Amino acid sequence: MSERPLSPLKPALMERVLMRCPGQCAVCRAWSDRQVCTDCLLRYARPVPRCWTCAARLPLERIGRREPKCGACLRTPPPLSRTIAALDYSFPWDGLLQHYKFHQAIELRETLLERLSQALAAALAPDPDWLLAVPLTRQRLRERGYNQSFELARSMARKRRLCCEADMLLRVRESAQQAQLPLNQRAANVKGVFAVDPALAPQLRGCTVVLLDDVMTSGATLFELARVVRQAGASDVQAWVIARTPED
Ligand SMILES: [Zn+2]
Ligand SMILES: [Zn+2]
Repeated sequence: MSERPLSPLKPALMERVLMRCPGQCAVCRAWSDRQVCTDCLLRYARPVPRCWTCAARLPLERIGRREPKCGACLRTPPPLSRTIAALDYSFPWDGLLQHYKFHQAIELRETLLERLSQALAAALAPDPDWLLAVPLTRQRLRERGYNQSFELARSMARKRRLCCEADMLLRVRESAQQAQLPLNQRAANVKGVFAVDPALAPQLRGCTVVLLDDVMTSGATLFELARVVRQAGASDVQAWVIARTPED
């Protein structure tokens, strides 16, 4: 098998590859019966050591400790008892996640969920009672037509027989786009943005909950949502994410 030199695919090009060539690897364009071929998985999906509670990549000296944590989590423990991330939010996964988000490609969803399942198996992560997605506001949901995180959660919950309910968590107001804010302003930006539906909240009491999101950046959104879910009486809150933004 000849190896092609890899050039980073621009999102538009990646889109064309995904749309037209279902028999080709979305990353290197080699013929493959999978959306991302085995060579690319070996190259781009290697597991890396991550912080126990926020899934940030860890420096070498922390590796090998039991429940290793990053400096930020040691200073201020987040309201998540554990976070598991399958991938880095970098090439090629950033392009694939963008494509999934805006085109709702089902095969791609399953490819991304396979990565997450593998990370969960490697981490020996126990299944929670509830698997809940980070919610969108009603208006955003109407505009986009679906919540990409909920679609991921629903598919995974079905396979693992977990409770999953689209209306359990509410985004009561829109926050400024997190991506446009400096990291230190993001926590304040999401304060008071989330709520648990009062009619459904009793179902969470005493239960273990995993929050699912496609991409975790500063963690501010997931931390705020975890606080709200804990206040509703959940006994433990963790997060599973497809990709984690690498620290600079
Ligand atoms: Zn490939
Ligand atoms: Zn951490």
